[in-house]
Amino acid sequence: IAPITSHLDRWADAKPDARAVSYGDIDYSWSRFRARVHANAAAQCATGIEPGDRIAFLDKNNLTCLETTLGAALTGAANAVINFRLSAAEIGYIINDAQAKIVIVGPEFAELVDGLRASLPTVQRVIVTGGDDDEYEAWLAAGSEAFEPVAFDPDTCFLQLYTSGTTGHPKGAMLTHRSLDAHNAAAVAGFNFTADSVNMVAMPLFHVGGSSWSLAGISVGAQTVVVREVVPTAVLDEIEARGVTHAFFVPAVYGFFLAEPRVADRDYSRVRCLGYGGSPMPLPTMRACLQTWPRADFYQVYGMTEMSGVFSVLGPDDHRDAAHPERLVSAGRPLPGTTVKVVDSDGNTLPVGEVGEFWTQSQQHMLGYWGRPEATAEALVGDDWLRTGDAGRMDDGGYLFISDRVKDMIISGGENVYPAEVERVVIEHAAVADVAVIGVPDDKWGETVKAVVVLVDGASVTEAELIVHCRAQLAGYKTPKSVDFLSELPRNPTGKVLKREIRKKYWEGRT
Ligand code: AMP
Ligand code: MG
Repeated sequence: IAPITSHLDRWADAKPDARAVSYGDIDYSWSRFRARVHANAAAQCATGIEPGDRIAFLDKNNLTCLETTLGAALTGAANAVINFRLSAAEIGYIINDAQAKIVIVGPEFAELVDGLRASLPTVQRVIVTGGDDDEYEAWLAAGSEAFEPVAFDPDTCFLQLYTSGTTGHPKGAMLTHRSLDAHNAAAVAGFNFTADSVNMVAMPLFHVGGSSWSLAGISVGAQTVVVREVVPTAVLDEIEARGVTHAFFVPAVYGFFLAEPRVADRDYSRVRCLGYGGSPMPLPTMRACLQTWPRADFYQVYGMTEMSGVFSVLGPDDHRDAAHPERLVSAGRPLPGTTVKVVDSDGNTLPVGEVGEFWTQSQQHMLGYWGRPEATAEALVGDDWLRTGDAGRMDDGGYLFISDRVKDMIISGGENVYPAEVERVVIEHAAVADVAVIGVPDDKWGETVKAVVVLVDGASVTEAELIVHCRAQLAGYKTPKSVDFLSELPRNPTGKVLKREIRKKYWEGRT
């Protein structure tokens, strides 16, 4: 198992002047990038960061985030990267959950963190990165040069990514040298990354689709092109200008690309690998993509935070396999290093073709959820199996077909929304007696959030008022876009809400 920063040493020695990472008009060579990561680690030590500590990072994508993640790998700390789309309350919750000592924050979010400051007891220092007065650069420069990396332990977490769940609050999945080294190997083989690849990181770094995808490229000496945020025309221009070979986007973003009037007018001749995933891609979008980028190889990616990223891929040959057109809607086959089984509710393996829950066995497993032994024990079971919470079947060729989500999740524009988290907020409204939150079909985002509400006898509240109530506490993408009112929710004899029943009328003729 290679320490993640050993790759920086290797490439800074092998090709010190070649481009390592790019961002806007910044290019850092491998030797410069390694020096900046070391300066970050030294600055962490100078600021009192010790092994096991957490740093919270809150900004749109930038190089500071990568430097902090890799710097943490040297000090034994972990970078807890926060979803910048969350509400202030949610962000405060995560900073406190991580018990972060330092918060590194972009100028756009500095005021938000300032407002939270009184309720963040563990935070000793807030560092603004970017902007006019770049405190981050000053912090780097002030780091002591006499810095000793922590002794290497493959099971140390250096990247902590938050994912919500059925519990209603986000949990920090701890990713380690071991789990990310295994992911690097699988991703490099799966997507044919080489030292000549130019890897675009457009997915958010608070998600494995951004962070793990970038580390995979770095591990083989590819050039990493970090995109601050997805502006479709700018991203397409940058793919051409930078000679991007590898990129990954969620299906909704491919939809935005295809809506660009001049999408086809660019030179995409260097593009080799276009990944998509995180949610199913509608077939018409898929077909339009194959037409727009006829020379690129498309890879559908099935992954999750707890697996350190991707673990199953539908590759280019599968996309062209005329003998098995039905596999175009599958999530492909597990990558080397991961075994998948389909089990019933008692954990017994099911025969080929039967629907159950996917369980994985892999070195890519997270170490656990930070500070949550019970949730960890629920996710990591038996002799090293991880419960994915996804339901589906495997065909006789080993292809995985995701059919439903055991965990009841909604995927809107690539962002996961856990109904329990939204329901917790809706029910707090005095006029609401009962609520079920579901995903309903949406052409742009795939799904959007709907709340189906039962009112307290005699009480009244409008759809607009409930939406405002939710928005005050939840990220925009989690806030219901619509509210329907029912006199009661369908429940089974044990009192469980029958979401499938409720969803039915909105999805008629769609699935
Ligand atoms: P996250 O941890 O945010 O990456 O979310 C992981 C979840 O997203 C998985 O457990 C699936 O439910 C869903 N997901 C990821 N990739 C795909 C895919 N290719 N097709 C359908 N659902 C997916
Ligand atoms: Mg996802």
